[in-house]
Amino acid sequence: MVMSMSAKNNICHICNLCCPEGVRLVAGYICADCLIQISCTDVEDPKYAFYVAKLKELWQAG
Ligand SMILES: [Zn+2]
Repeated sequence: MVMSMSAKNNICHICNLCCPEGVRLVAGYICADCLIQISCTDVEDPKYAFYVAKLKELWQAG
């Protein structure tokens, strides 16, 4: 297998898809698509709270 182990770490914490583009936080990874979704979501939207909760998990874990 040519695929390196690092590809495993590119699984997005929010959508659970493996994406090559994204940002790595303390405890995980978020893909570019989800970052766009977060920035497009209104703060009043229930989804926004979901995203924020997921982000907090990544910042606080470990
Ligand atoms: Zn994602």
